[in-house]
Amino acid sequence: MPSRTTRPKPPAESTLLAGIDLGGTKIEGVLLDGAGRVLHRRRLATPAGDYAGTLDAVAQLHQALERAAGRTLPLGIGTPGSPSPADGRMRNANSTCLNGRPLLADLEARLERPVRMANDADCFTLSEAVDGAGAGHRVVFGVIIGTGVGGGIAVNGRLLGGPNRITGEWGHNPLPRRNDDERPVPPCYCGRHGCIETFLSGPGMSLDHQQASGESLPAHAIVARALAGDPQAEATLARYEERLARALATVINLLDPEVIVLGGGLSQIERLYERVPELWRRHVFSDVVNTRLAPPRHGDSSGVRGAAWLWNPARDDMIQ
Ligand SMILES: [Zn+2]
Repeated sequence: MPSRTTRPKPPAESTLLAGIDLGGTKIEGVLLDGAGRVLHRRRLATPAGDYAGTLDAVAQLHQALERAAGRTLPLGIGTPGSPSPADGRMRNANSTCLNGRPLLADLEARLERPVRMANDADCFTLSEAVDGAGAGHRVVFGVIIGTGVGGGIAVNGRLLGGPNRITGEWGHNPLPRRNDDERPVPPCYCGRHGCIETFLSGPGMSLDHQQASGESLPAHAIVARALAGDPQAEATLARYEERLARALATVINLLDPEVIVLGGGLSQIERLYERVPELWRRHVFSDVVNTRLAPPRHGDSSGVRGAAWLWNPARDDMIQ
């Protein structure tokens, strides 16, 4: 019999990862094992507009994850917006109480643990690239289409970072090849006009429908009516699909990803996965388009799973 000392260490059991997704309405924490299984999950309501309360809530969740793990753990956290490369203070967050705050430094001081932080769309992308719809592919573009529009890029299972910390932020590019019915362009909260987000977010779809039909409806109601055969809603959804195809074609021309994974509320529209790749063909600079458009494997859980994977023990650093 081999002696105890020569027996190899069991791999997955020893790995535990703590991730928190800091959202506008809820803060979710998970404890994953090395195989990506969820061992513990907990949610709190976000103390909206209250920065100190938000730090308290994150600390409370992290303590709960450590109690479940029975040991101390570093934290991976996904947040709206990103820290400025100039001074580390948050910017571009729609949870505006974070903006101007040194969130990473404050969390490390508060938790007394190492913290890795990434944008929520980046965490979504990482999750789907590691063990989701993009697993096994070299270049994955992750897209959030929901209240806002964001994105992230994973290469070989790691996030791509850059000197401005805005990798994948296609939502604030202008909608390409605008038609006459897309002028004048709507203003965006970012201060520019005609951003992709103003057309492809849920509020963007609502605004477009309201301008075309005079009726004010949330995006999910427009989609439900379109699927039930309402011609006005169908026209709105068709315009949405064509715009999404145009916007993603510019990403394909630039990045040539194997897979584009959609996340966020509007990713639940099943027919996007069939129609949009048919529509993007005419806009992509290639005779054949092999890029696949895929729904997320982990759905709403991808944000928090990606935050946990920021500490993937198989990699030194998940942001390259
Ligand atoms: Zn914008």
